[in-house]
Formats: sequence, structure tokens, C-alpha cells
Amino acid sequence: MNLAELEAVVTAAGEKRFRAQQIFRWMHQRYARSLEEMTDLPKAFREKLATQATLTTLEIDLTQRSSDGTLKFRFRAADGKQIESVCMPDEDRRTLCVSTQVGCAMGCAFCRTATMGLVRNLSAGEIVEQAHRVNAFLIAEGVPGPRPLTNLVFMGMGEPLHNFDNVKRALEILEHAQGPNFSNRHLTVSTSGLVPGIARLGEETDVKLAISLNATTDEQREKLMPVGKKWNLAALMQACRDFPTRQGRHVTFEYVMLAGVNDSLDDAKRLAKLVRGLPVKVNLIPYNANPGLPFGAPDPARVKEFHDLLVGQKVEAFTRKSRGQDIAAACGQLVAPVVKPPEVAGS
Ligand code: SAH
Ligand code: SF4
Repeated sequence: MNLAELEAVVTAAGEKRFRAQQIFRWMHQRYARSLEEMTDLPKAFREKLATQATLTTLEIDLTQRSSDGTLKFRFRAADGKQIESVCMPDEDRRTLCVSTQVGCAMGCAFCRTATMGLVRNLSAGEIVEQAHRVNAFLIAEGVPGPRPLTNLVFMGMGEPLHNFDNVKRALEILEHAQGPNFSNRHLTVSTSGLVPGIARLGEETDVKLAISLNATTDEQREKLMPVGKKWNLAALMQACRDFPTRQGRHVTFEYVMLAGVNDSLDDAKRLAKLVRGLPVKVNLIPYNANPGLPFGAPDPARVKEFHDLLVGQKVEAFTRKSRGQDIAAACGQLVAPVVKPPEVAGS
């Protein structure tokens, strides 16, 4: 619920409107997991509310720590479904890569999440809650609060723009001044290229955009990313040109380098041509191997040549260093087994 909806619930229960702000702060600034924790609400009100509303949160099911400091969290939702988020600490910032769906319907050939298919969308609450549980975890580890996470990237499991309404609602809550209070410049939504969703993201939110480009010809892209059959490169690039870039919003292109598939210097030249004149950054992501998928990591020397060629063509390019590979937490490695919820005794 956003604050206005919470106010409606609170006033319908016969309480003052400001109680909703208290609850909102308990949930989104102090990461409360139950109404009982909200000790400055009258006990009778908490009990009454508990008969009308439930506060459901994600459980941290498993935490894995990489040798490079990356943390992978596996969460269990109320229906037993599992999702993963990855926290990447850097000098002065901590970024969480959040999931937006259980699985993904987009079927990209190189991505491990794709092998699950789409199981279901995450609710806005489940999207926001990933940040809260990780914040609470970090505070318990001694990281100063109240909000250890500085940046969120919607680059975990799922296609955010395929779950647009819940992602938008989650962004509104995450940016709320009386809630988590993230700045729009610290929130990035990544898409495989759902063109109508890009336009909506531009109009209806104020966050930054990342595009998983991954190919420089339609033929190549359609093979790797079926979404390319629906919206080709011309339509995708037009959507990027139309994306509003005020308020520090800018577009990043992600380019997963697959050995022998899209890592030639001709690809680099075509990539430079595609983005010429656009105020964009290109992130090169050397492929992270996945068992059973027929792709390999590019030669590091080739990654450097590719990178240098882009820079030589005045493209702002970065090579993303892979993190968390030892715990399968790197880009494109997230997958969570679908488990049955625990059997209820006697049922
Ligand atoms: N579904 C959205 C958000 C997920 S972002 C999207 O695709 O943009 C996940 C990023 O990791 C994408 O840029 C994707 O291209 C990249 N990726 C997927 N599998 C990968 C792999 N095995 N190695 C490196 N990057 C990968
Ligand atoms: Fe889905 Fe993104 Fe993976 Fe493609 S790369 S299957 S869109 S999560």
C-alpha cells in the first residue's frame, strides 16, 4: 500500500490519519515485520488493525557471501516461492540488485533466469521488501543505519517492464520522503527492450533506464533475445532517444559479451554507430558462464580491444567487473529452485 491507501485503511478503522504515517515509517524506515513491533500505536488499535489487515514480509531463506564481499540473499515469499537479490558493497555505496518476478518470460538464450520461465509477478510489497530485509541484515551486521543501501538496480530475476504496475508502485514507495526516501538518481530499471514499457517508464516515473542491448544487428539480437522479434533495434533506439533525460536521468546500455557470438570488432564498430550522438554509457559485461547454456566468456584481450575501440569512437564505455561468481550471484546467474510450501500438519 502507498501512504494514501494506508490512510484510508486507518481512517476507516476509526483512527486519526497521522497513525498511517507512523505505520508507514515503521515499515519503510525501521523495517518492522509485525504490527506488534509498532509500540507507539495504541494496543487496542493494533489489535483491531490485525483483524482487518496483514503485514506479510519476505523471509531470508539463505545468505551467501562471496570472497569479493558480494552478498546473495535468497528470500521465501508467503506462498513459498523463492527469489534472489544481490548486494554489492563498494567504497562509499552499497547497491542492491532486486528481482521483479519469480522467473522470467523473455527467454533470453544466455540467461539462467530464463530457464525457469515465468512463475509469477512479484507484488510491489515483495519488490520493496527485498531492500528492507537487506537493510535490516546490514544494520544487524554493524553497518550504520538507518538505510545502509544507497542504490537499487532492478536487474535481478525478471523483466521489470513486464510487471510495470507493481514496479511503478514499488518505485513510488521507495522514493517516498516519509518512507525509504531513495533519490530517483539512485534507482535504475533495466529492460530487455519492451518498447511501450520504456515510454511509460519515461512518462510515469523519474528513475534511470538501462537497456540490455547485447547485439548490434536485428538478426543476431532476435536469436539471443526473442523480444527483438517484436521490437527491433530501430524501435528500441528510437525509444531511447525519446526517453526524457532531465533530472539526472540517463540511459545505460548493457552489452553482455559472448565469445565468438557478439564480441567481434565489427560488433564494436556497429555498437559505436548505434549509440553515436546519444548521451549514453555502455557497460560491457563479460559473459558469466552458466551450466548447460552454450555460451562462453570472451577472451580478456578481446574485451579490452572492444572497450578501447568504443572509447576511440568517443563512446563512454566501462567494463563491468564480474562479482559474486563463486556463489552464482553474478549477472544472469540468478535462479531459485521452485519449492513447495511446507505441508500443513493434518491437511
Ligand atoms: N530482465 C531485465 C533485468 C535483468 S538485468 C534485463 O534483461 O535487462 C540482467 C542483466 O544481465 C541483463 O543485462 C542481461 O543481459 C545480463 N545477463 C544475463 N545473463 C548473463 C550472463 N550469463 N552473463 C552476464 N550477463 C548476463
Ligand atoms: Fe529475463 Fe533479463 Fe534474463 Fe532476458 S536477461 S531472460 S529479460 S532476466
